Amino acid sequence: CSNSNPTGPIDTTLCDFETVESVNDELFANLHELVAMPFFKFFQVDLYRECPFWSDDGSCSSPSCAITSVDESQIPERWRAKSLSKLEGSKIEEVRFRKVLPLQVANPAQRHELPGCYYRDSDFCFLDDNTDGDYYDLTLIPERYTGYAGPDTARIWRSIYEENCFGLSEVNVISGPTPGISVPDELPDAFKTEDNDEDDGQCLEKRVYYKVISGLHASISTHICQEYLNQTTGEWYPNLQCFINRVASHPERLQYIYFNTVLLLRAISRVGPYLQAFDYCSTGGHEDDAETLAKLSNVISIAQRAGQFDETLLFRGENAVLKEEFKEHFRNVTRIMDCVGCDKCRLWGKIQTTGIATALKILFELDEKALDPETNHNLLQRSEVVALINTLHRFSESLAAVDTFRKMWRATSVEE
Ligand code: FAD
Repeated sequence: CSNSNPTGPIDTTLCDFETVESVNDELFANLHELVAMPFFKFFQVDLYRECPFWSDDGSCSSPSCAITSVDESQIPERWRAKSLSKLEGSKIEEVRFRKVLPLQVANPAQRHELPGCYYRDSDFCFLDDNTDGDYYDLTLIPERYTGYAGPDTARIWRSIYEENCFGLSEVNVISGPTPGISVPDELPDAFKTEDNDEDDGQCLEKRVYYKVISGLHASISTHICQEYLNQTTGEWYPNLQCFINRVASHPERLQYIYFNTVLLLRAISRVGPYLQAFDYCSTGGHEDDAETLAKLSNVISIAQRAGQFDETLLFRGENAVLKEEFKEHFRNVTRIMDCVGCDKCRLWGKIQTTGIATALKILFELDEKALDPETNHNLLQRSEVVALINTLHRFSESLAAVDTFRKMWRATSVEE
């Protein structure tokens, strides 16, 4: 029974498992500190928009689902609504950037308004217009087991896969909870990630889409299993059986966690110069700013090494028409988050779908000129930058958890 770590190329990327494994400790350590900095830990979002797809959202009454927003007085003054409302239009943009540059005026035709939110033609998600949103301190709201399950979650995942995945046939989403957990006799396959990715006649774009969604689902499941609640003792613990059942016994799900990590790293590598020009100063002093920038630079440098993905292979030739479909589907996924009935799950669902959507925009919509901070400093909103980095942190933490589960499995095997 060999529990060797995964090896070989990660399908549809230019990267291999070994490279991701070799950088993850360093990546996770830097991200973990970065997301605790004021700029990255406060996220503003309207969590209480109506679900646009069905009327009852199956609200979860579990105390583990409840979250508390932070009072605006705890937020650095420059981000508070009052301060921002004192500034007119273009001045808000100036606050966001270290260098005051001539503003690029967005073409209004590219912006589509909906109640409380909007999207631009290049966006893969709906963005809040930040009029009704509360601030949350993400360091106080760990993504972990909440008990949110049953027909409501099955409906959400089903609608994400079936209604928004170009009708992919390989998806087998059942309603109701996963049947009883059982440890397969032979586990090693569960920890292998060799390429068993079936092409299934699907074009590259559709396969990438499915990997993104399934990888996100697998990462969420990994966090649930990593911090599982013992209902009797009230203790949180890593639940190996849960991980085997939900992720490891489906090797492709594990692969897609790596895939998403590479995708996000590639996006961060591309947008590196822009991120380095962003204004991270939260208190008015320079220490925060410098510390945040230093950690971010480390993350960007890792991203340049491991973010090996060729985005130019997608949406080429006759497949170019698929981009709008892809975008529309992913925007819908971000709206489905308004239907998630557990506040904590909805918060992390919104952050991660926004983070992935931001990465997709960086990869598939923006050329080198658009990414230039000198000419296009109006490129990303603060919420997109915060979501992008926090989402990479979620995936990197999942990979760290996979390592813990591998060790647990080895220990179990030795005992036997
Ligand atoms: P589910 O995870 O609900 O999966 C449903 C079905 O989808 C499975 O039976 C399987 O057939 C298929 N499937 C499962 N994983 C994959 C995959 N990776 N790729 C392809 N198909 C797959 N719960 C928490 O406790 N904490 C959270 O923070 C949390 N956040 C959530 C965020 C969102 C956006 C959503 C929609 C749900 C969240 N949940 C959370 C609920 C959680 O994801 C599960 O739905 C719940 O634990 C019930 O799990 P389940 O075993 O029924 O299978």
